[in-house]
Amino acid sequence: MAIHVLDEAHRCLNCKVPQCQKGCPIHTPIPQVIQLMLNGKLDEAGKTLFENNPLTTVCSLVCNHEGQCEGHCVLGRKGAPVHFSAIENYISTTYSSKMVHGPAASNGIRVAIIGSGPAGLTIAVILARKGYQVTIFEGKDKIGGVLRYGIPEFRLPKSILDDFEYRHLRLKDIKVRPNTSIGGAIGIDDLLRDGYKAIFVGTGVWQPNTLHIKGETLGHVHFGINYLNNPDSFHLGERVIVIGAGNAAMDVARTAMRKGARYVQCFSRSDTVQASKHESDYAILEGVEFIYCKAPKEIVDEGVIFIDREKQEDGTYVEIPGTEKLYPADSVIISVSQGPRNRIVNSTQGLSVSERGLLLADENGHTTRPEIFASGDVVNGARTVVEAVAHSKKVAEAMDAYIQSLPEIKEQKEKMISIQ
Ligand SMILES: Cc1cc2nc3c(=O)[nH]c(=O)nc-3n(C[C@H](O)[C@H](O)[C@H](O)COP(=O)(O)OP(=O)(O)OC[C@H]3O[C@@H](n4cnc5c(N)ncnc54)[C@H](O)[C@@H]3O)c2cc1C
Ligand code: SF4
Repeated sequence: MAIHVLDEAHRCLNCKVPQCQKGCPIHTPIPQVIQLMLNGKLDEAGKTLFENNPLTTVCSLVCNHEGQCEGHCVLGRKGAPVHFSAIENYISTTYSSKMVHGPAASNGIRVAIIGSGPAGLTIAVILARKGYQVTIFEGKDKIGGVLRYGIPEFRLPKSILDDFEYRHLRLKDIKVRPNTSIGGAIGIDDLLRDGYKAIFVGTGVWQPNTLHIKGETLGHVHFGINYLNNPDSFHLGERVIVIGAGNAAMDVARTAMRKGARYVQCFSRSDTVQASKHESDYAILEGVEFIYCKAPKEIVDEGVIFIDREKQEDGTYVEIPGTEKLYPADSVIISVSQGPRNRIVNSTQGLSVSERGLLLADENGHTTRPEIFASGDVVNGARTVVEAVAHSKKVAEAMDAYIQSLPEIKEQKEKMISIQ
């Protein structure tokens, strides 16, 4: 592994204008990190990665590298790009095992984070580094959001999240309240009453989109996000139809194969898959069959009735009457993305949402209430880990600026200075 990583690192041209870095949504200083490693400064390389992206290890495994850093590397124009994902994984995991930093000196100011997915974790780490007293409220029993309850173990080992919890949360004295959904027994106004100066909402999108067709409530029909939450609770049988062909659908199909299904078919409405090539290539390799240009019309006990769709010259599709056909299945899993739940919005005055129910927030995370900030999927819709982290970095700075501008905080600071 290490030899391969060093070989990859030696191939890097240390470009003056690194295209790889431009292609990375969080602008990881790729050539700088590679050079630090090659110069024997592994810890410095690791520190650089974590300071830029607290979820660097996760990103090294789950980012769409072919469309981002590696897809932009100049060496990829004529041959293989530098495989930075392998380098990042090696540096971040090696350095992570040495990280034992305790909490920063406390500034005594409380902030609340609702949701412990990539967005919430990023905000928590950055604000804790600045000395805030951070409490995370998480509806599930463990931290991680989709990283733990969506992306399967074979793509992202959960030990990475356990290690993150220990090194970044417990050692830094970030408090976590698991199994605590905000908007139920406790609401945002209770948090404000208890002295939290700013609140971050990073609750993601957990409401499965439905197809609005007959049969969706039958006993052998499930939603992808519910299945991935705990696949062992489901008994799918041998023949499984997955409706949808995005990245989440690939996780559903590949998990079903691993859990004992013999025939897994993924149905796409168009003539392509929406998933990244990497993910669909693995699904094919593992035996998943793809069927294109079909729209589901009805789900019945025996399977799904699909109708053929034909692509027109202008790129749109039309259904071809009379082509309805039953595709047999023991179970059907619908995986056509998710939208937000409305628990917090319904229980909090003054928070505005878009037509799709997404929280309205600007690029610095300001919602329609000054003390409440938001980022990640609950604002942008179903996107990616690195986008949630990149957005949340800006939001953490905006939260800090907001809190420091509060009259009572300014007053406190002036008092401290006059005592000194
Ligand atoms: C199956 C699947 C596979 C994916 N694969 C990839 C991939 O390979 N690469 C990639 O980059 N992206 C992938 N994504 C997308 C990526 O995981 C998300 O974009 C990212 O997790 C969004 O982060 P977030 O913090 O906004 O939300 P989430 O990860 O959804 O976290 C939100 C958290 O908030 C908690 N929460 C919700 N409501 C409340 C409440 N009221 N009170 C307290 N807590 C609450 C939830 O339990 C959850 O822990 C995938 C998504 C899915 C569904
Ligand atoms: S573009 Fe490729 S060769 Fe150039 S610095 Fe980035 S990784 Fe190295």
